[in-house]
Amino acid sequence: MRLRVPFLCSLVLICGLLLGSAASAQDWRTPTEIADYRTTPDYAETVAYLERVASAAPGQVKVENFGKTGEGRDLKIVIVSRDGVFDPVAIHASGRVILLVQNSIHAGEMDGKDACLALLRDMVITKDKAGLLEHAVFVFIPVYNIDGHERRSAYNRINQNGPEAIGWRGNGSNINLNRDYMKADAPETRAFLRMFHRWLPDFFVDDHVTDGADFQYDVTFYADATPDVAPATAKWIHNDVTPELERQLNAAGHVAFPWLINLNDDTDPAKGLTNMPAPPRFSTGQMILENRPGLLVELHMLKDYKTRVTGNYEILRALLEVMNRDASKLMALNREADEDAANLGAHALGNERFPLAIEWGGETTPVVFRGYQYKRALSEVSGTMWVSYTHEPWNATLPLTTGVKVVTWTMPPAAYIVPPQWNRVIDVLAAHDVAMRHTTAAWTGKVERYRCAGMEWQGPPFEGRHPIFEGEGAGAEPGKFGTCALATETMTFPAGSVVVALNQRLSKLAIQWLEPEAPDSAMRWGFFDPIFEQREYGEAYVLEKLARENMAKDPALKGEFEHRVQTDPRFAASPEARLEFFYDRSPWGLANKVGEYPVGRLLSLEGVPLE
Ligand SMILES: [Zn+2]
Repeated sequence: MRLRVPFLCSLVLICGLLLGSAASAQDWRTPTEIADYRTTPDYAETVAYLERVASAAPGQVKVENFGKTGEGRDLKIVIVSRDGVFDPVAIHASGRVILLVQNSIHAGEMDGKDACLALLRDMVITKDKAGLLEHAVFVFIPVYNIDGHERRSAYNRINQNGPEAIGWRGNGSNINLNRDYMKADAPETRAFLRMFHRWLPDFFVDDHVTDGADFQYDVTFYADATPDVAPATAKWIHNDVTPELERQLNAAGHVAFPWLINLNDDTDPAKGLTNMPAPPRFSTGQMILENRPGLLVELHMLKDYKTRVTGNYEILRALLEVMNRDASKLMALNREADEDAANLGAHALGNERFPLAIEWGGETTPVVFRGYQYKRALSEVSGTMWVSYTHEPWNATLPLTTGVKVVTWTMPPAAYIVPPQWNRVIDVLAAHDVAMRHTTAAWTGKVERYRCAGMEWQGPPFEGRHPIFEGEGAGAEPGKFGTCALATETMTFPAGSVVVALNQRLSKLAIQWLEPEAPDSAMRWGFFDPIFEQREYGEAYVLEKLARENMAKDPALKGEFEHRVQTDPRFAASPEARLEFFYDRSPWGLANKVGEYPVGRLLSLEGVPLE
């Protein structure tokens, strides 16, 4: 029989289509799985995979934009909900908790992205993990620092063992987004905060890859349970979450450690491990101010990519199991933490101390550390001791710094009042959705205010600024926080001043931004630098006259000057300083108001004309 050509063609076409569609319908491997973990997908491939899953499970997966990066790329979240309810209020009303997972804030550390693609597939395509959506909704940012993620190279992270081409730590303007949560300089941070407050998730995870030492663990993690975390939440994290994550990871064949591993001495692992609390510039520090539990996940940089991605997968899976089990408890804890925060301002006249800065308290706990054998030798390159690791196990009991202490604290006022010309300070509060009211008329009244002196700014830049930090980053010239003394004074605030009352869920955020000594305050980050600048000055021939007149009138002033000349050689050698001594103590000098913090602390809102 002679086959007609058109018939043959259509047969080939149909068979081809059938074969093709059968293959694509069955192949739900993620891009990195297809590449056998040698590569990680770029953003376009990542989004293509997400959209393919979303169109195969439209009732359970939604991909939403939440803003743009500096270079103009669309920031996306993926929402995975078993019944197609994608609204956060409706989700909470149905008794389900929301997990928000952030990936690739440091875009060379993209393990969590590839883990989330696999977890998404297992929830809604293969449905092996569909049970994790019973009492929880899974929301994730596949890539947060997209501009950094697309700056792909094999040379971006010298410490890390693959995959082949990876992204960059900074964003498009080389800002480290994981130091930007408080000051919110980057467009990504601004978009994150808007999205975060729309979702107000019950638990937040930030996925990273380590730098630092070599050891056996492939998954290390840390959830803050420090004195600034709501006490009941801290107890739940410590007793119920952390041990369960560790147990489940080890049961799944990974080697887990529930602390971040920082060596006390990089040249000698035997000297023990440090674990420091995160101030608000970090994502997990920010979560403390948001009254939500936050988990930092760090996969070990030298493990192969498959081990890392599956380790990241397992910790998210285990956390979702805990969240499903404790869903109603977690919602109650978050409600209680919000209520506690909203009550902070009520203690204005009490003795309630609020911790501003927390540091290691000197206590250590012995832990069995699963490290690697190492050799120490004097290096002719660096001139100091260096460590070379073998891959032979070294299980040693080491001191781990676990104790923390509050080093700076404040008594919260009822409210702060910020004059309207400090618009950049107010703008950051607005970016954080802090509730504010404006005054309708000028107001004069008694407030507590700080007078600050002795500040020194950091020399080399840190995150694009020269903050009053004691040597963050490459601080060859560390700054120094001087003193801020509180006194009750009568001050006048213009109409349109902003009043930030502390009876709100974001009270801790307002305190951390507006209390000068807080580790990430507006003052530390340089937003109040102009108050330390002297605007007017006296000419030498004018001050010569002033000095003579004032010494004649005031013998004590004369004595003080002469004592200073005798005891302070730098002062004695500076003609300018000797004349400024008299200017600074005169009404003309005091008119400069150097160091007078313009924000007032209100102990009550009585009499303040508010809109
Ligand atoms: Zn990182």
